[in-house]
Amino acid sequence: MIDTLQIKITKNSNSRLAETEFKDIPFGKIFTDHMFVADFEDGEWKNFEILPYGPIPMSPAISALHYGQAIFEGMKAYRLPSGEISIFRADKNFERFNISADRMAMPTIPEEIFMQGIATLINMDRDWVPTQENYALYLRPVMFATDDSLGVRASSNYKFVVLASPTGPYYTKALKVKIETKYTRANEGGVGYAKTAGNYARSLYPFAQAQKEGFDQLIWTDSATHSFVEESGAANVMFVLDGKLITAAVGETILNGVTRDTIIALAKDKGITVEERKVTVAEIIAGAKNGTLTEAFAVGTAATVTQIGEIGYEGELYQLSDSSTRTISTGIAKELNEIRNGLAADKFGWNWIV
Ligand SMILES: *Cc1c(COP(=O)(O)O)cnc(C)c1O
Repeated sequence: MIDTLQIKITKNSNSRLAETEFKDIPFGKIFTDHMFVADFEDGEWKNFEILPYGPIPMSPAISALHYGQAIFEGMKAYRLPSGEISIFRADKNFERFNISADRMAMPTIPEEIFMQGIATLINMDRDWVPTQENYALYLRPVMFATDDSLGVRASSNYKFVVLASPTGPYYTKALKVKIETKYTRANEGGVGYAKTAGNYARSLYPFAQAQKEGFDQLIWTDSATHSFVEESGAANVMFVLDGKLITAAVGETILNGVTRDTIIALAKDKGITVEERKVTVAEIIAGAKNGTLTEAFAVGTAATVTQIGEIGYEGELYQLSDSSTRTISTGIAKELNEIRNGLAADKFGWNWIV
């Protein structure tokens, strides 16, 4: 990458690193010493800056707050055995960020700003990249509309910010999930494929209802018929049915997950048959009943692979196989972990050393 971007750097003179306890660190609550910020004004990106992480003064009229033009990404940086730092498949997150921007009538961002902003931030906060197994530095690029105007239209001004947050292992136990047949996450013609704020806002109430019923998470179904499985929470969902790995094909209502894509590539590489297609609730329930559904799991950057232990559907609870028997998902998750931590050959060229 060419080092063209002029970035103004203000060093944080009060590092919080020494006082930060990495063990049992909660997801997304602790931020590193710095953040990267850029502005979109007068039709161009400018004011590239690294500064101490902290509040950004803003008008309460900014349109992101009122009308929701806000998009984000999530990726992780890993410490390799050599001590180098690698970001996993950041090119895919960059591509998707601009797909989200386009759908939300926001400006796209040039690759060098996205990538150099991230690389420079990592360089400032290198010591924050954890060395412990199963830990990483989570990176959160976000863009939001900053016009201070209540007019309903696409904003003219935007801010792009990259935050970094050290994270450890996510869920450990297999989850009890409910197949949701009333509320939906996405619909045809909507914004389900964009990583945009409103998709998460609309999911919170149904999620809270499911929690009251004793579930840990939801499996979303299609808005028209509730007969097709779409995603699980804010992650893609996969099944092993009759020995084949099946998952919903990406489209308007399915977010094109980087972890999903990675697991499919690794599965194919292992000679496992993969089907990306419409997945019916009926076949999943039938498989749970007759034992041909041997694995079910959610996949995403935050938790990588989260096993699903029980599925609730129309008042019935279906117990799935013991997670310790799930050789396909655990085998692929292990290989994925080894690749991104530099413990196995990076044969697909997924690691970007910064
Ligand atoms: C972020 C996200 C995913 C997972 O994408 P990754 O790139 O694997 O992290 C899946 N579904 C939704 C709705 C998401 O927001």
